[in-house]
Amino acid sequence: MSSLHQSDPELFTLIKQEEQRQKNKIRLIASENYVSGAVMEATGSVLTNKYSEGYPGKRYYEGQQYIDQVESLAIQRAKDLFGAEHVNVQPYSGSPANLAVFFAFLNPGDTILGMALPHGGHLTHGAKVSISGKYFNAESYSLDQETGRLNYDAIREKALACRPKILIAGHSAYSRILDFAAFREIADACGALLLVDMAHFAGLVAGGVHPSPIPYADVVTTTTHKSLRGPRGAMIMCRQAHAAAIDKAVFPGLQGGPHNNTTAAIAVALREASTDAFKQYAAQIVKNAQALAGTLIDRGFNLVTGGTDNHLMLIDLTNKGVTGKVAAKALDAAGIVLNYNAVPYDTRKPFDPSGIRLGTPAVTSRGFKEEQMVQIGKWIDAVVADPTNTALQAEIAAMVQQLCAGFPAPGLEHLS
Ligand SMILES: *Cc1c(COP(=O)(O)O)cnc(C)c1O
Repeated sequence: MSSLHQSDPELFTLIKQEEQRQKNKIRLIASENYVSGAVMEATGSVLTNKYSEGYPGKRYYEGQQYIDQVESLAIQRAKDLFGAEHVNVQPYSGSPANLAVFFAFLNPGDTILGMALPHGGHLTHGAKVSISGKYFNAESYSLDQETGRLNYDAIREKALACRPKILIAGHSAYSRILDFAAFREIADACGALLLVDMAHFAGLVAGGVHPSPIPYADVVTTTTHKSLRGPRGAMIMCRQAHAAAIDKAVFPGLQGGPHNNTTAAIAVALREASTDAFKQYAAQIVKNAQALAGTLIDRGFNLVTGGTDNHLMLIDLTNKGVTGKVAAKALDAAGIVLNYNAVPYDTRKPFDPSGIRLGTPAVTSRGFKEEQMVQIGKWIDAVVADPTNTALQAEIAAMVQQLCAGFPAPGLEHLS
């Protein structure tokens, strides 16, 4: 980055500091990852200079000789990887992708039904502060208070009572596999379209360790930057019957020109995600999550649902006498980065809730296996048991940095 170093030393320094942070800390934020150097290069390429409103073969600007091929390649790779009939790779991120789906099928005031935000749903699934909750009549389903799991009979009952136009499956903090056949049956029973938002677990679907929603859903949205390990962006996949409505909603309905540099990086990530190495990666994400979960359960941590089938876990810290925010800040000081999170039926406020959320996509990308996960679990236990002990935090942060030095992160190899 010699140009940046010369022209804007202030920004250069901040980026270098962030590189060091990503290199030296254990990143357990469930939605984050490390992209490859190849994805990074495509993201930082000259494609950022080009306007291309429209779709391949139907653009409003000239000079699309290469851009059309880039976008067509991204679309074809997504179709091949996920078995989708139609793919739109232009949404700027996961939130606008969901908004585009609503714009394609709903009028203001229409009813949608999604997982409640404090139970693991996403803001864009109808939270009151979000446009999805303000412009539409947003109803929600909750987790079972006893088991912490989805109760499909209760979702069915709710759906039949409120008759949504769109039923949404998908989450940002649920540690179990979704039953897409059950969601499909409920959508059919109430005459709804089924939208599956697989933002969090798309990489697990690509790697074959989570069932695919594609055979069941009318529309599937996903971010590309979480477990799928691509650039910040999103895709909408749908049945051919909905292709025109989806494309029209994205452009010109919601967006202008696509971010071609991102589209190229999505294509690179999709190629990576179709390899055997990625299948092993996805399987290791789940093994690592289960190793971490087991270590924490052995030390008296209360995991919502009692464990995990995917890449994440949610921990209720109430029995440890520590709030989520206090624990998250203490762990950050110890070099272990995660986020505080509401747990189902939380009695505390969202800005200082009872839980923390942990995920393994990023640490698995840098090559951590079960052995490292057990070590991380022990460090988490020590910090949470004594969250004001800054000497302990500094000691663990040094050990964390030493561990990380042995596992160069993708995209950051040049630092080691
Ligand atoms: C992360 C996420 C999104 C939103 O993605 P952004 O790119 O942050 O807008 C949408 N849905 C779910 C389920 C998510 O987890």
